[in-house]
Amino acid sequence: ALAVLLSSGAMAQKKPAKVNTANLDQRVNDLLQKMTLEEKVGQLNQYTGDQDATGPITASGDKVADVKQGKIGSMLNVRGVKYTRALQDAAMQSRLKIPLLFGQDVIHGYRVTFPIPLAEAASWDLKAIEQGSRIAATEAAASGLHWTFAPMVDIGRDPRWGRVMEGAGEDPYLGSLIARARVKGFQGEGLGNVDAVMACAKHFAAYGAAIGGRDYNSVEMSLRTLHEVYLPPFKAALDAGVATFMNSFNDLNGIPATGSSYLQRDILKDQWKFQGFVVSDWGSIGEMIAHGFVQDNKHAAEVALNAGSDMDMESRSYISSLPQLVREGKVKEELINDAVRRILRKKFELGLFDDPYRFSDEKREKKTLNKPEHLEAARDVARKSIVLLKNQGQVLPLSKDLKSVAVIGPLAKSEKDMQGFWSIDWGKEDKLVSLYEGMQNQAGNTKLLYAKGCEVQDTSRAGFAEALAVARQADVVVMAVGEKADMSGEAKSRANIHLPGVQEELIKAIQATGKPVVVLIMAGRPLVFDWTAKHVPTIAYTWWLGSQAGNAIADVLYGKYNPSGKLPMTFPRSEGQIPIYYNYYNTGRPSQNDQDTNYRSGYIDMVKSPQYAFGHGLSYTTFSYSNLVLSKPSMGKGETITASFTLTNTGKVAGEEVAQLYLRDVVAQPVRPVKELKGFEKVALKPGESKTITFTIDTEKLSFYNDNLEWITQPGQFQLMIGTASDNIKLQQNFELK
Ligand code: BGC
Repeated sequence: ALAVLLSSGAMAQKKPAKVNTANLDQRVNDLLQKMTLEEKVGQLNQYTGDQDATGPITASGDKVADVKQGKIGSMLNVRGVKYTRALQDAAMQSRLKIPLLFGQDVIHGYRVTFPIPLAEAASWDLKAIEQGSRIAATEAAASGLHWTFAPMVDIGRDPRWGRVMEGAGEDPYLGSLIARARVKGFQGEGLGNVDAVMACAKHFAAYGAAIGGRDYNSVEMSLRTLHEVYLPPFKAALDAGVATFMNSFNDLNGIPATGSSYLQRDILKDQWKFQGFVVSDWGSIGEMIAHGFVQDNKHAAEVALNAGSDMDMESRSYISSLPQLVREGKVKEELINDAVRRILRKKFELGLFDDPYRFSDEKREKKTLNKPEHLEAARDVARKSIVLLKNQGQVLPLSKDLKSVAVIGPLAKSEKDMQGFWSIDWGKEDKLVSLYEGMQNQAGNTKLLYAKGCEVQDTSRAGFAEALAVARQADVVVMAVGEKADMSGEAKSRANIHLPGVQEELIKAIQATGKPVVVLIMAGRPLVFDWTAKHVPTIAYTWWLGSQAGNAIADVLYGKYNPSGKLPMTFPRSEGQIPIYYNYYNTGRPSQNDQDTNYRSGYIDMVKSPQYAFGHGLSYTTFSYSNLVLSKPSMGKGETITASFTLTNTGKVAGEEVAQLYLRDVVAQPVRPVKELKGFEKVALKPGESKTITFTIDTEKLSFYNDNLEWITQPGQFQLMIGTASDNIKLQQNFELK
């Protein structure tokens, strides 16, 4: 059936026109009037096309037949002009010719892979992040896609949870700004433009707080924490105009998110007035049976639809049961109409009723994918994402005069792992740059030696001897260790987040040679590497940086780019410290320092401070903070205070610093965190150069939720802190809110 379909797609070359959104409600309603109940339910049904790495789609004959009968409103995992057009042709044969929506997890790049989202968050560079999503959208749209299931805006405070790699880290303020940047990037100038795709804020809500860091697990959380920590990035996505939301696998305080009318109706649709639609997570409607929340698929459909889940991704509960549920009076047709309207509206806004193919054709696809400027942008944000954790070794940046550098470690020549989880597999066509290749591109006359040393996960030390021999021949050793690309991501929770296998032993052995060692850690989450952190003088976290990983890392190693990344998540010393995050509440017995555990809140067998704090990240230059001036000592409600200070590059090379503003409400009921990020600025400075930076504090930044979930301010003292990391405050002063 597919072959026939493929040949029938006329590859019309039309000029993209601006989508006409006049009288949208009227047009949506006119169409709705014509639809049978079954056709309406069809719009709420989403199936996978199960396209594999090399295509062709396996949209079986049955699914194509379903499309022709108007039983499918959207498909995921079908990509590429050839296949999306073929399926859209089938939709054009349905009675009402309602176009299909094609969705895909375009999480960090489409054809060109960008750094994983957590890495990109470490850049604290909102423009670069927006640009990354913009490019991903441009490529995806040219490839026939309309919709990405991104950004994931779940707050992650637990690095055991494999999906922290998809988010922006632990902080609601940074997370909100990044959510906005990503939504703006994906949706561009608006859905009516052919290079835009719909974004999807996911997973609504609190998925990141799964107990024990175990994926899909339950969440127990106060509503205050939900509203204060976990919901803000969703609200930011909404305010940025996000077209869709995805609900979530977890239950929240006993109610599966998919069946939660509190989340989907009360908060999202009523309070926040969200006009787009909510898609379920994969099969999550049917999974309410396993939760023990509903009896069967029919019951699941009833509960989910009534709770505000508009589209059923792959559980097939809606298509099988909703018409019957309406006839039985268990689901009001008006609620179905509302869900259908929300979906149709987006199809109109995307221009699918003007051109169901959205002007995608093979020519445009070919022209758009993998452009040199996309690769260049990926390289740029990749190097901005690298975090220099420690630089006491005096070896970075590497001198071009070195005779030889040994590149050692299981990830030194890896390409696939650099792409990370949630990247699209392009098979053989893909050209990815390993660390070794990236270094080779810049090494000049330096000879590069190589030894693998060990595998990522194996326990064999058989390769150590060769690695040691190679290390002994070199002036400097660069080690590439970490996780393979399938070790962080969905369903990749880990209880032990140490550097896997014998990698840390390899580091110990190499370090014992006395050669200067640079350790590069490539991973999808904060890992535990206590020995390395203590003993190796030079360490950089390079995450999974995408298509251009090797080139980006080489830019930093050779000083072509001065590292500027800052950690978006706290790095624990041990799994036993988890959950660990910077914006905690003080206890009644706070320890004054790491040694102070005498009836103080800490551990008797380990310090309580993290290995590396939120906001930490070094540069090849140094910065000084001075001259903090507040515009006034106090402010009234509705007023603002500005805090200005001087930032100076006190080193010998140009660099960028992310200056961070933290606030603390000294006395409050309920209590407030010891500090909260409320502003930052990424500033480029030449050697010796100074700039005056000004942060503005308004009442909003001083407000919080009380126990009745009211957004309030309380008069009193606030502590203002400005620094280079959450644990490295350089300037501080109090002010009063009257
Ligand atoms: C994930 C979602 C993803 C969906 C579709 C689910 O398993 O939780 O984030 O968008 O699959 O691939």
